[in-house]
Amino acid sequence: MPIPDIDLPDDLIPHDGRFGSGPSKVRPEAIEMLSGSAGHIMGTSHRQSPVRFMVSEFRNQLAELLSLPDGYEVILGNGGTTCFWDAATFGLIENRSQHLSFGEFSSKFATAASAAPQLGSPTVITAAPGDHPEASAEDGVDSYCLTHNETSTGVAMGLRRPAGADPDALVLVDGTSAVGGLRYDPSEVDVYYFAPQKGLASDGGLWMAAVSPRAVERIERIAASDRWIPAFFDLKIALDNSRKDQTYNTPALATLFLASEQARWILENGGLEFSASRCDHSAETLYGWADSHESAVPFVTDPAKRSHVVATIDFDESVDAAMLAAVLRSNGIIDVEPYRKLGRNQLRVAMFPAIDPGDIAALTQCVDHVLARL
Ligand SMILES: *Cc1c(COP(=O)(O)O)cnc(C)c1O
Repeated sequence: MPIPDIDLPDDLIPHDGRFGSGPSKVRPEAIEMLSGSAGHIMGTSHRQSPVRFMVSEFRNQLAELLSLPDGYEVILGNGGTTCFWDAATFGLIENRSQHLSFGEFSSKFATAASAAPQLGSPTVITAAPGDHPEASAEDGVDSYCLTHNETSTGVAMGLRRPAGADPDALVLVDGTSAVGGLRYDPSEVDVYYFAPQKGLASDGGLWMAAVSPRAVERIERIAASDRWIPAFFDLKIALDNSRKDQTYNTPALATLFLASEQARWILENGGLEFSASRCDHSAETLYGWADSHESAVPFVTDPAKRSHVVATIDFDESVDAAMLAAVLRSNGIIDVEPYRKLGRNQLRVAMFPAIDPGDIAALTQCVDHVLARL
């Protein structure tokens, strides 16, 4: 089907048309700094002080941004969140894990743990797309695996240690799309891990994790056992390198710089309260618009589970959402298509801290403009 020729008026179009949920908008100011002040770092050794200083600064920024309690450390390595899942099956899960599975990303970690021959069969608690299950204390489970924000469906969950869980059990949380945008109590979490191309407005390729003293102890204990761990997935090696502000092998320096620059921008503007409030503001605008719209409705029915960083909006049969997204794309408003495997008549809109709440308001006006003409 040809895309209808609908031109959005210039005064309606958002300043920045990037609303993708991953990879996501990188602030243009950060990209300018990358070619300016960061220019001296690119193409230099990650074993020398300029890059190590940047890594050190970034680790401190994350500790401040997340208000990490005493004794928590920030570690990092190559390979993104998907790599971290495999690393966790080697170096964090001792024997058996419990997973909350409620979308594409949360299900992938459960799959990785199920496939790992060194581990017992995990418990996987599922919920239908658009909802999330609750963790519950279980004998023999040493790792509870949660996802702060399920990017594929736009569902966010509160983070708590399951009541009655073994005090030695760890709570592992995927914060890839939540970091910097959703609040949480770090004392409820032992490992908050993420890649920086979503919530942190950087590029892909790295993982980072805020780890509690108990998680460090677990990493060290498993590393000292006779379990075979490939060096690339070895969290003890990552821990040792991170403490020296290095990575095991060569990191993407531009990714590190952009992530650090985003953390700096958030901290200078007031920290997590500033960035999470931006997301709250965007969410109020977008869900409020959908709630009062005659042909749109938030996909997530429970308002408490609606993510403030990734919104999913369903349309009734009077609207062809794919066509709507195509018209928006032809006007430079991009990546609002739904998660491909969800298969819904839907738009998915990122509201990460980097995204201006004013641009979210402009987006709703653009959608109305297009719908009136389709
Ligand atoms: C995107 C995403 C991932 C995968 O991240 P990669 O860095 O591409 O491996 C994992 N978890 C969540 C919640 C995500 O949004």
